Amino acid sequence: MSATAPPPPLSADRQALVEAVLAATRRVVGARDGMVALHEPEFAGREREYVQDCLDSGWVSSIGAYVERFERALADYTGAAHVAATVNGTAALHLCLKLAGVQPGDEVLTPALCFVATANAVSHCGATPHLVDSEFTSLGVDAVALDVHLRDIAERRGDVCVNRRTGATIRALVVMHSFGHPADLDALADLAARWGLVLVEDAAESLGSFYKGRHTGRHGRLAALSFNGNKVITTGGGGAVLTDDPELGRRARHLSTTARVPDRWNFVHDEVAWNYRMPNLNAALGCAQMEVLPRYVDEKRALAARYREAVAAVPGLRFVDEPPGTRSNFWLVAVLLPTADASMRDALLERLNAEGLMSRPVWRLMQHLPMYANAPRAPLPVAESIEARLINLPSSPKLGRGA
Ligand SMILES: *Cc1c(COP(=O)(O)O)cnc(C)c1O
Repeated sequence: MSATAPPPPLSADRQALVEAVLAATRRVVGARDGMVALHEPEFAGREREYVQDCLDSGWVSSIGAYVERFERALADYTGAAHVAATVNGTAALHLCLKLAGVQPGDEVLTPALCFVATANAVSHCGATPHLVDSEFTSLGVDAVALDVHLRDIAERRGDVCVNRRTGATIRALVVMHSFGHPADLDALADLAARWGLVLVEDAAESLGSFYKGRHTGRHGRLAALSFNGNKVITTGGGGAVLTDDPELGRRARHLSTTARVPDRWNFVHDEVAWNYRMPNLNAALGCAQMEVLPRYVDEKRALAARYREAVAAVPGLRFVDEPPGTRSNFWLVAVLLPTADASMRDALLERLNAEGLMSRPVWRLMQHLPMYANAPRAPLPVAESIEARLINLPSSPKLGRGA
């Protein structure tokens, strides 16, 4: 179909479904002026006070009290022993992969259904993302399907996993907690241990989400958080590395601060490294946002409960709920359409957005982007189905307030 051809008309059934989803979303969101954002940042706490204090102190860059205070707040909230705040989530992922021992020429198992930053972080290590499928419950990596795939193409040689087809070492497995819903971490940790893979969690979307009572990002050797403007809390731009390993924690800080060796005044650096440390100004914002995080999560969960009920009344539509044994932050509310049909999905997106309700499709799968078109991969039927059927609906904390 050419880009200018009009979309085919929807059947009466599908048109009715579009109207039902619109009505359900309206009912949940309530009467609002203007466009209802997908996820809007909010600065109603002590953000101004802390940022002003930071400006007054003159310590606006990577050295300052707020950076350490923010890291402590994250450590207290998540339970992680060591936290290194970074300039963004992609930088945090890059550091995680470096610290996981990913070498140029390695492969790293990453979900096809993911934001592009994860595969990019692998590429920045000179390694190749090896795309794997998701499961329908959590939308995260399917441990069973991955085990089948690895038995097909890989073998364990001593401590490491080798791709028999490419000869490359498969060094690590990155799992991601989609829209805040924890992936099946016990099964994935077990699989990683059996295959000799370092487990890294991309917890960019899951601050405030717990798997069996333990915060996401605390089930692998290393994890990355993001505080981009659209995330649960924001520092403008920002990220963090979480780990329980003291040596990896020390290395994360060292590599994020140009590997500078403490010295009175000499510029001594002991390896090639990065300028990835979070500036104090951003951390000041983060300290204020951490104070309201528990309330945001409560509000987002209340909003999700209203969507759950509204979606249940729409035949064929599935509300993507928190998997059993988990407590999700419901970062973005997601629904799955009954039919894997892009014309249906796009008609719905058109209608919702035209009505001032911002909604979006899921990310385009990695193998559908030009730079990853030839990436090694497992069969990806579930990711393909989700790509065609999933949309995200307005999810800001304020929508769950009061009402
Ligand atoms: C937001 C996000 C990132 C990257 O974070 P940035 O701070 O934007 O670099 C990585 N992975 C996932 C899954 C994300 O949603």
